[in-house]
Amino acid sequence: MTETPPAPSPLKADPPPLKADLDTLASLAKRRGFAFPSAELYGGFASTYDYGPLGAEMKRCIRDLWWRRMVQERDDVVPIEAAVITNPAVWHASGHVAGFTDPLMDCLQCQSRVRADHVVDDTCPVCGAVGRFTAERQFNLLFRTFVGPVEEAAAVAYLRPETAQGMFVNFENVLTTTRRRLPLGIAQVGRSYRNEITPGQFIFRTREFEQMELEFFCHPEQSLEWHAYWKQERLDWYRLLGIRPQQLRLRDHEQSELAHYSQATADIEFHYPWGWGELEGVAHRGDYDLRAHAAGSGQALTYFDPDTQTHIVPHVIEPAVGVDRVLFAVLADAYDEETDARGETRVVLRLAPSVAPVEVAVLPLSRNERLAPVAREVWDLLRPHFRTQSDDAQSIGRRYRRQDEIGTPLCVTVDFETLDDRAVTIRDRDSMAQLRVPIANLEGALREQLALVHPERR
Ligand code: ATP
Repeated sequence: MTETPPAPSPLKADPPPLKADLDTLASLAKRRGFAFPSAELYGGFASTYDYGPLGAEMKRCIRDLWWRRMVQERDDVVPIEAAVITNPAVWHASGHVAGFTDPLMDCLQCQSRVRADHVVDDTCPVCGAVGRFTAERQFNLLFRTFVGPVEEAAAVAYLRPETAQGMFVNFENVLTTTRRRLPLGIAQVGRSYRNEITPGQFIFRTREFEQMELEFFCHPEQSLEWHAYWKQERLDWYRLLGIRPQQLRLRDHEQSELAHYSQATADIEFHYPWGWGELEGVAHRGDYDLRAHAAGSGQALTYFDPDTQTHIVPHVIEPAVGVDRVLFAVLADAYDEETDARGETRVVLRLAPSVAPVEVAVLPLSRNERLAPVAREVWDLLRPHFRTQSDDAQSIGRRYRRQDEIGTPLCVTVDFETLDDRAVTIRDRDSMAQLRVPIANLEGALREQLALVHPERR
């Protein structure tokens, strides 16, 4: 059953650096309403963010794209929604209570806590002191809480650190109720919580985040094939979000990096402002989890194969990714600045329409009582079909810039001629080209124009 995984493929070279650094992205996100430091009114809360109107909409787009591709369009995946706080026996059996740890050290100079595996050359990443650390100790990342009114050991429960275990403990239920055969994937989207020692880098690593995970149960002898399939399938998904392929690569884990139960794991890496790093993990988990829960619960977690008339323990391939991290990658990749002939710089988020929080903005040329009702009429017409916004504050030039900065692919301008000819102007974010279209044909024309917008065109 232990086939040899294929040799790791060579790594892709670095793309040119991104145009935005971390601070530029975080400040744009705050200024425009993608993500705010959480509870800023009270001074914020370390590495915690609240999503604003644009961020909330964009997260929904990302979730929906994942759901459509991973659940809705497939004939071999079903969804579940499991509880965030469940029987702590789950986390004992899965190994999280005993072993979900990161190595921690304290800097003796500045008292900062750092993750030992993130320290380079024995240098404190906060104050720069060299060789001034306490000994390494293991820190468990599970968030503990108490269920019920009494804070006693018997009432301890945990906030889930991953959604995956929900799929393993419901494997039997899902199998029985859906009467499916292998291969069968169980998918889930939901919040997870980890008491990270060093969160940071904006929304890249936070203590509360949202995951999109698939546990794909298959015949053990087909598992390496499925692993190869899912690596490619997941990499392809990012095209739908408009992330440029140059920013992404697959990195197969070295043998020494693999968990003891894993035959193969690969990361889909994004080239962040600080270099390559994990965006998504595609792990081969073998039969580790089902066996762990069978041992923990005393119940057999097997699949009866009708072809061979035998009970087997399926193997599992797990593509797992965070919504927040994807949002961050999309923003970082989309950020662009361009300077025109007059030396004026324009900031443009070159978002694909699939993830743009606003697809079409309706802008009356000026705030005017004759234009307002027509602009309103156009906006009413478009709202059921597109993610829209309408804005009549400030000059039209400034409003175009604002829409460019939030990545709106198309603006529709209502001007004084509209009052006579019942036509409006569509303005393209990337080329800034303008197209005059009758209101009667507007919906179709916008669909056509949106299909032409693609970040790879830049
Ligand atoms: P790391 O080694 O960076 O701590 P991990 O390998 O433990 O991450 P996984 O357990 O594989 O991460 O989680 C799957 C995915 O969930 C990650 O690829 C990432 O997209 C997302 N994720 C994990 N932890 C966080 C976090 N603290 N904040 C935001 N997203 C996260």
